[in-house]
Amino acid sequence: MNEIVLGDVSVTRVMEYYGSVRLSPREFFPESSDEVWRRNEGWMAPDFYDPDNDVCVCAIQTWLLRSEGRTILVDTGVGNHKDRPHAPVWHHLDTDFLGNLSRAGVAPEDVDVVINTHLHVDHVGWNTYLDDGNWIPTFPNATYLMPLADFDFWNPANRGDPVPGRDNVFLDSVAPVHAGGQTVLWEEDFQIDANLALEAAPGHTPGSAVVRLRSGSDRAVFVGDMMHTALQVVDPDTNSCYCEDPVQARATRRRVLGQAADTNTLVIPAHFGGHGGAEVMRDGDRYAIKAWAPFDRVAEGS
Ligand SMILES: [Zn+2]
Repeated sequence: MNEIVLGDVSVTRVMEYYGSVRLSPREFFPESSDEVWRRNEGWMAPDFYDPDNDVCVCAIQTWLLRSEGRTILVDTGVGNHKDRPHAPVWHHLDTDFLGNLSRAGVAPEDVDVVINTHLHVDHVGWNTYLDDGNWIPTFPNATYLMPLADFDFWNPANRGDPVPGRDNVFLDSVAPVHAGGQTVLWEEDFQIDANLALEAAPGHTPGSAVVRLRSGSDRAVFVGDMMHTALQVVDPDTNSCYCEDPVQARATRRRVLGQAADTNTLVIPAHFGGHGGAEVMRDGDRYAIKAWAPFDRVAEGS
């Protein structure tokens, strides 16, 4: 099942990519030990880790929400044809993401709200598409919600020396949408509708956010890159190599996981393979997987 219903909100998983991200656990999660990967390998493989090739396995997926009659996308993946010389795995992708979105019943003009949980390369890509040499907003009728702290942090205009490659992301996937007047730059928190709210969850990046779904008695939290792998549930102090503020990222991860465990909240990260998310429970000063989310388990190539 790639669609579930939580209260009055439907949640659909739309895939862009699933497989190796060409990073070993030591490269992706330098704070974790070989021992903890070996100890958890039995349940981490194959959905989160490929032990034969010693590489981490991730999904790039968009969470499609339908709430109060509106169509909402949480994160927009890597995008097609983007020049990413410093991230070879995402360089000039050519996927059928818009076809997958269409098969979920959504045309680009149907999208009312786009949420970028933060402004990293794999969360803003489909904000725009290439048309005759120009980057054009993919979703012409959407309001794009972006955290102001990330907008300011990644904006090359706010730095003295542009960083070739890294600045591409802002320039091809953020700036065109902002120039078109389609962005709302928010701070602290932002109520989307009666069911959905954005909440600051800094650490991975200064503006990283989570999306809280509360509808009837159902609860979910879309945590973006607060976690990249299920190992971070059982080893919650482990950061990825992409976390800007390791201390803050740990505190945010523990806060959000603790709230989820205490309130029966389904945790739905941006990049989990397998079933896409999990219910968690406390396990001493750590956490454990209570149940996987009820989405279909993805397979490579899906
Ligand atoms: Zn990411």
